[in-house]
Amino acid sequence: MAKDYYNVLGVNKSASQDEIKAAFRRLAHQYHPDKPTGNEAKFKEINEAYQVVGDSEKRAKYDRFGSAAFDGNGGGGQGFGGFDFSGFGGQGGGFEDLGDLFGGMFGFGGGRGPREPRGSDIQVDVELTFRDSVFGADKEISLSKFDTCERCDGVGAEPGTKLNNCSDCGGKGVKIVSQRTVLGTFQTKAPCHACEGEGKIPEKRCTACHGDGVTRGKKTLSVHVPSGVENGNVLRVRGAGEAVRGGKPGDLFVRLHIKNDTRFAREGSTIYSTLRIGFTQAALGASVETETVDGPTTVIIEAGTQGGTEIRVRGKGVVTGTHRGDHVFVVEVATPTKLSREQRKLLEELDLKE
Ligand SMILES: [Zn+2]
Ligand SMILES: [Zn+2]
Repeated sequence: MAKDYYNVLGVNKSASQDEIKAAFRRLAHQYHPDKPTGNEAKFKEINEAYQVVGDSEKRAKYDRFGSAAFDGNGGGGQGFGGFDFSGFGGQGGGFEDLGDLFGGMFGFGGGRGPREPRGSDIQVDVELTFRDSVFGADKEISLSKFDTCERCDGVGAEPGTKLNNCSDCGGKGVKIVSQRTVLGTFQTKAPCHACEGEGKIPEKRCTACHGDGVTRGKKTLSVHVPSGVENGNVLRVRGAGEAVRGGKPGDLFVRLHIKNDTRFAREGSTIYSTLRIGFTQAALGASVETETVDGPTTVIIEAGTQGGTEIRVRGKGVVTGTHRGDHVFVVEVATPTKLSREQRKLLEELDLKE
């Protein structure tokens, strides 16, 4: 499938490498999936284009053979499948690294090293009370996960012993692999197996992690849940996932489940509850004891209040940022079902009719 990479990046065929780089950075910023203007499909397309025309060697090949020259060699974009964009999101302006990241992923033979390993993400479920969701809460989360080995600080060597250069790769951590294609032989870099891409091999392996640089254990984290979260929201704690030797740890995803509270319901930042009053109170007015998430409170019922009336109390709702929503009491007028003989007589005397 022929693709016009210049068109994707919005540049001329004669554009300089610098112009292409600038166009890529501008578009990558605009369409990055973490941004409000983000568009993942578009972002991938831009990256695919930049992988080729952003590199003068590959660009020359592309100019001669078109995008077909890159299909099956990673240029077709199939390497993106399960890629997690979060790895470099949120750092702000970190796009300089982006080319390297994708370059490594595609396995193109450039002047780049292998992609840095990244630990796995972890997902956990956490239950919150209704009150937690209104005010926010700090939650303790227990995990069994890999962490950087404390004994060797992740290096994998027994403290006090040396690290030797890997003889297989000459300490580079990568090996050149030749790949034969119809267009000739491509050279790509792959991590060295002997040293797992580290370039160095411990003289004596760390006794705590056996050279892995990470140890599995139980860990308790305190995670701050901000106020105003909703059921099903997922919090990301960057770097709190599985640790990995020589790379960045994965992220921790915390899925929030808010327990039902029979007293309260919620819509956005407004909390609703039913305020059940007797019909004498509805007719004559009253002050009624009830509760909000802040505790007991008194609500004034005006004389002649109808069922379904909404009484709004400002600033007793959900905390969202610096703002606090309202609490709305929906009045329900209870019609008496069990009357004493005297009550019945009085009501009959009243003979209330519309
Ligand atoms: Zn260790
Ligand atoms: Zn090696």
